[in-house]
Amino acid sequence: MKVFTHPACLRHEPGPGHPEAPARLRAVLDRLSDDGRFRPEIAAPAPRDTLLAVHPPEYLERLEALARGGGGMLDPDTVMCDASWEAAVAAAGTALAALGSALAGEPAFAAIRPPGHHALANRAMGFCLLANAVIVARAAQRSGCDRVLIVDWDVHHGNGTQALVEHDAAIRYVSLHQWPAYPGTGRAAERGVGNVFNVPMPPGLPPEHYLSALWDAIVAATEGWEPDVLLISAGFDAMAGDPLAGFTLEPEHYAELTRRLRERLPSTSMASLLEGGYIPSRVGDGVLAHLAAF
Ligand SMILES: [Zn+2]
Repeated sequence: MKVFTHPACLRHEPGPGHPEAPARLRAVLDRLSDDGRFRPEIAAPAPRDTLLAVHPPEYLERLEALARGGGGMLDPDTVMCDASWEAAVAAAGTALAALGSALAGEPAFAAIRPPGHHALANRAMGFCLLANAVIVARAAQRSGCDRVLIVDWDVHHGNGTQALVEHDAAIRYVSLHQWPAYPGTGRAAERGVGNVFNVPMPPGLPPEHYLSALWDAIVAATEGWEPDVLLISAGFDAMAGDPLAGFTLEPEHYAELTRRLRERLPSTSMASLLEGGYIPSRVGDGVLAHLAAF
């Protein structure tokens, strides 16, 4: 198991009181450092062509220019500072490094921010600037992967990921998320070209309910369809106590899911990318349980 990160990810500052704070990533890195089993390696920023496989050039130029001018607000939740462009490109590059390790035979985790699964091709939203998981999925396809599975266990629906892959039958997207909740997409009836498997669930249920519903969807998505690569959009805001949602998962549940995925998909390359999770210490605990289960 490898872990990649980039120091620029800590310099993205959405402002005082914003839940998507540098403290989240710092807590993850501190937890890994205290534990000692996983030593993060520094990845390279994403090459421009990997971003252009998902986002139009005008959009990238707009974000870059906003950062160069000192930053600004992209929507009520999504704010850039002067270092945010560098952070976003570093996050995408770190996710690509995790893919490279996975394809070389060693699963990997990208400890990154800003997150990515709400970002659309030409619109930032929900704290997300670049669609990290889709950038990685497209890179995997260019490396010869015919089947890419994205499992998104962040408590919010990855509307950006879905929108960017829902016409591509070679990518399957499974998402467990709170319903109703931000961003308002993710109904079970949204099936793409049969490649989208949404699991909307109410808050406050016992954790086993969330686990088994997600697992059923993963089984449905992989029945007779073995992915070459699995990308996990690993948010940790489905944990009990998260200020932005009402699910009830604990670190052991991420470990359980990770073990089950490893067992079900033994020859699939696996890369996991940090998405949300808004109690820094809990995100650290969740990440460590997830990594240890690999
Ligand atoms: Zn989330």
